[in-house]
Amino acid sequence: MAEPLLDVDGLTIDYLTEAGDVRAVDGVSFTLDPGEFLAVVGESGCGKSTMLFGVAQLLTPPGEVVAGQVTFRGRDMVRLSRGELRHMRWREYSVVMQSAMNALNPMKSIGAQFKDTLQAHGKPSAEEVRRRSEEVMGLVGIDPTHLRSYPHQLSGGMRQRAMIAMALLYTPQLVIMDEPTSALDVVAQRSLMTKIKDLQRSLGFAVIFVTHDMSMVSRYSDRVLVMYAGQVAEAAATQAIFERPLHPYTRGLLNAYPTVTGPRRELTGIPGSPPDLGRPPEGCRFHPRCPEVMPDCLTHPPELYPCRGARVRCLLYTEPAAHEAVLTDG
Ligand code: SF4
Repeated sequence: MAEPLLDVDGLTIDYLTEAGDVRAVDGVSFTLDPGEFLAVVGESGCGKSTMLFGVAQLLTPPGEVVAGQVTFRGRDMVRLSRGELRHMRWREYSVVMQSAMNALNPMKSIGAQFKDTLQAHGKPSAEEVRRRSEEVMGLVGIDPTHLRSYPHQLSGGMRQRAMIAMALLYTPQLVIMDEPTSALDVVAQRSLMTKIKDLQRSLGFAVIFVTHDMSMVSRYSDRVLVMYAGQVAEAAATQAIFERPLHPYTRGLLNAYPTVTGPRRELTGIPGSPPDLGRPPEGCRFHPRCPEVMPDCLTHPPELYPCRGARVRCLLYTEPAAHEAVLTDG
């Protein structure tokens, strides 16, 4: 079998605070193949953005990777020097943040920022900078005359597109995105996501996409990682997640979002709120909110159990025979 592009193994991230260490990401493992689109979902505070920053090696104190490996194209990113990471970032992988307004420099035109990025990684001629900058603006559907614009002169949707254009200056193999559409209205969100998906297909890069929007997940991703309280609750192909969600938390997330197709159903959501990661519940971390809680759940922390091609952290799936019973009942 071909090597995955990215292999995250047991990634564990703590926030080292005066009040004590908080484990925000706890032993997360997954792989990503070239050209694959992975969605990472979960409620606010579940550790998904911290995990993403850990993968991209963009964590700043008090956040720190305390265990695990992030192997990207055969190299463990956790152990690379700042200089080595700087060399790889933009060229081999790039990151698109939630808000382009915060990520872009308000004092410089878009074109000047593209030029800085290109010059930080080589010695392109002025003509090469102009040509590549115009190309990537064209890719994301912005008129290249906007290379002269400053971030505040662009709409929110155009700023996010400009960030994506910048992320593609070197045609990296991996683009990491932290809720890139969350600040946009629904029409701009849809248009930007369609553009990202088209580019991913035509240029062949892989995507890790953090979101809390299940409709985006169903439409655009190949695989889904559901996170709860810093851990992977369920990992499966997108179609399987929507047709046959296994973890009670995944079912709760799906019951909280409306679909435009299929029969009408009542939206129920998930009672309660995610736990304080400084003091997560004993046993299964989801047990205080789980509609299927059993006595064992209060004392036995579940592992990730394989089930029908998925991995699920729930005691309902410890035995292969139990899978069938749960799935038949469900
Ligand atoms: Fe619910 Fe128990 Fe499964 Fe946790 S282990 S999700 S509490 S059934």
